[in-house]
Amino acid sequence: EVRVRFAPSPTGPLHIGGVRTALYNYLFAKHHGGKFLLRIEDTDQNRYVEGAENYIIESLKWLGLTPDEGVGFGGPHEPYRQSERKEIYAKYAQELIDSGNGYYAFDTPEELDQFRAEAEAKGQTFIYNSQNRDQLNNSLKLSADEVQAKIESGQPYVIRFKIPENETILLDDLIRGKISIDTNTLDDKVLFKSDGMPTYHLANIVDDRLMEITHVIRGEEWLPSMPLHELLYKAFGWTAPRFAHLPLILKPEGKGKLSKRDGDKHGFPVFPLEWITEEGTAKGYREEGYLPDALVNMLALLGWNPGTEQEIFTMDELIAQFNLEKVSKSGARFNPEKTIWFNHQYIQQKSTEEILPVFQAELAKEGITANNDFDAKIVELLKERANFIREIVQQGKFFYQAPSSYDEKAVGKAWKEDSASLLGEFIQSLESLENFTHEPIHDVVQNFVQTKEIGFGKLMMPVRLAMVGSLQGPDVPVIMELLGKDEVIARLKNIIL
Ligand code: GLU
Repeated sequence: EVRVRFAPSPTGPLHIGGVRTALYNYLFAKHHGGKFLLRIEDTDQNRYVEGAENYIIESLKWLGLTPDEGVGFGGPHEPYRQSERKEIYAKYAQELIDSGNGYYAFDTPEELDQFRAEAEAKGQTFIYNSQNRDQLNNSLKLSADEVQAKIESGQPYVIRFKIPENETILLDDLIRGKISIDTNTLDDKVLFKSDGMPTYHLANIVDDRLMEITHVIRGEEWLPSMPLHELLYKAFGWTAPRFAHLPLILKPEGKGKLSKRDGDKHGFPVFPLEWITEEGTAKGYREEGYLPDALVNMLALLGWNPGTEQEIFTMDELIAQFNLEKVSKSGARFNPEKTIWFNHQYIQQKSTEEILPVFQAELAKEGITANNDFDAKIVELLKERANFIREIVQQGKFFYQAPSSYDEKAVGKAWKEDSASLLGEFIQSLESLENFTHEPIHDVVQNFVQTKEIGFGKLMMPVRLAMVGSLQGPDVPVIMELLGKDEVIARLKNIIL
């Protein structure tokens, strides 16, 4: 059975890069009839941010990427929060010591800083590994008794992984292909600290093993950790899962990794949900009026392609077609306009009943009470131009509220000396109209301009102004039908005054 996991650290709101990682894991799991897990990697207490875990769960739910197991969802491998699994990691750290794959190191932060500075002075980067570990302050040059005494005296230590010397390791990433690494370039990473907490590397490997993960699908920034992870699996005598490292999401300009700052600069969200702190509010797709399925569709194509021209996919279609072979190696450029385009497409696809609740919530913000039949007609009339549902409210507000003022430029263009008298006569022709629907209204208009021998615009521009307050909006007879005879006449009289 395929089992994959999304393993975010709760250090802040989820970036859309993280959302894409979750999505690809989800699609891969569902495609193979497997399981999608949510594991919270919160072993770094210094970077823990209140509320972030909840935010992650809410985001996944909003996007429809509901985990089969995990924090907030339960499952056979509980707990799924690493801070609740401390004892487990201690046991495995000890196992590495016992097998000679790990060792205690007692170097103080000051000593390490000094080594770094010395190396830097020589134009080198200090790495703690087979080249120098025998000279440093660690258990490899101390007797078992000395080590024991240090630990018992409460001297802080870490447990490091002993990277083998002079080996070449061959990696095979499902996206990046084959990579070979010389172990002499790797450092003896810290796996466990004397505060009883593992580092990311140890906890991640142990949990992936215990939770029976078959495929690790994660961002490219973790590719440099892959050799260490492979070596850790080997040290434990475990078969490693398959790895797949996803390409970076690039700035709209193409160069560099997409960051929160790009969103701030250009005014688009980089987070699925709004994130509010004392420093301010970071925009979220949900609050900005994006539909979750539009966002999912956009993200699915940000680094993966179906090999066809198809752009619009339901979740089921994505699940059916998704594969790692068609994930690109190179970075994918984020396109905020295209994201809006997807939202537009999804609004067109939605039925009026689906749009109505959101539309009415937006109306309520304007103090307008809902009226299902009428609201449905407005949605149907205006949705084809909308990128966001709130735009239907902005464009259709005049259906609910008579203009309180008239656009100055429009007045200059539409209102002539004889407009008032023309509209006065036009009111009379409308009053006798029994069936107040757009076709007969159109005939009345036609008749009126022919009899008067005037251009169509000479009548219709001031009429539109009276109805809308500007020269925008759909076909005037259609507007008039929806407003109803009394309201139309009231608005005409209002502009004449
Ligand atoms: N906790 C890591 C993160 O925040 C997980 C990386 C991985 O998937 O191995 O991205």
